[in-house]
Amino acid sequence: MSEIILAAEPTIRLAAFLGVLAVMMIWELAAPRRRRDIPRVIRWTNNFALVVVDTIILRLSFPILAVGLAMLAEERDWGLFNVIDVPGWVAFTGSILLLDLAIYLQHVMFHAVPGLWRLHRMHHADLDFDATTGLRFHPVEILASMAIKLAVVGALGAPAVSVLLFEVILNATSIFNHSNIGLPAGVDRALRLFLVTPDMHRVHHSVDPRETNSNYGFSVPWWDRLLGTYVAQPAKGHEGMEIGIEQFRTRRDLWLDRMLIQPLRGPASGHALDLGNEQK
Ligand SMILES: [Zn+2]
Ligand SMILES: [Zn+2]
Repeated sequence: MSEIILAAEPTIRLAAFLGVLAVMMIWELAAPRRRRDIPRVIRWTNNFALVVVDTIILRLSFPILAVGLAMLAEERDWGLFNVIDVPGWVAFTGSILLLDLAIYLQHVMFHAVPGLWRLHRMHHADLDFDATTGLRFHPVEILASMAIKLAVVGALGAPAVSVLLFEVILNATSIFNHSNIGLPAGVDRALRLFLVTPDMHRVHHSVDPRETNSNYGFSVPWWDRLLGTYVAQPAKGHEGMEIGIEQFRTRRDLWLDRMLIQPLRGPASGHALDLGNEQK
């Protein structure tokens, strides 16, 4: 079974990516949650161009990606789940959950360490919040994420199918929870028991540093709940809140060339360790 799934890897990835993206973009057009401030053409062109740049740089930089490493680890008995004797489903679900926890912790770290915040704040500098925001990450952050993910996959000895499923879920949930849609309050509440909803992640894109530095989860909301980083709603409401960070607020900052040099520009203000100063 897992051979069949892994053989179809590129198709599964592309179908999930394009499928979820198309559904969310149509939904945003039909029933937007917030009024847009920036014409779509500027943000969409540059955000999609960034995805192309990211993909090329990632492919050229790593000889092996996460699923490939998982297959190699299985073959050579590397990592926890390839050494200890546990039922297949424990290794399968355990790997997905622990990978998700690792991504949560990585996200917290990228907010806390000033040098890493310089890379990650580019994701936050988008001035509107829609499905394409979920794809907007600096290429150096993408490389750092992959290096961390490879280390976690190797140490866990995660099954290749788990790694593939984890990556597909993360990609799909990221597009979903960045989309400019509103779910009925009851549906949002029910979904939030096990999934990060757009209303939950939108809080993370608020310009208010106390809200920027909350809701770090991408797929499941449990880590934020367990570890005390959960904020239910933005103080100014979803329509009144301002999206972005204090720095980089011009339309020109949304262009690809400016996004790429953002880590080098200005101070690294607004990161999580800055909070104490902000509140004084
Ligand atoms: Zn963030
Ligand atoms: Zn985000």
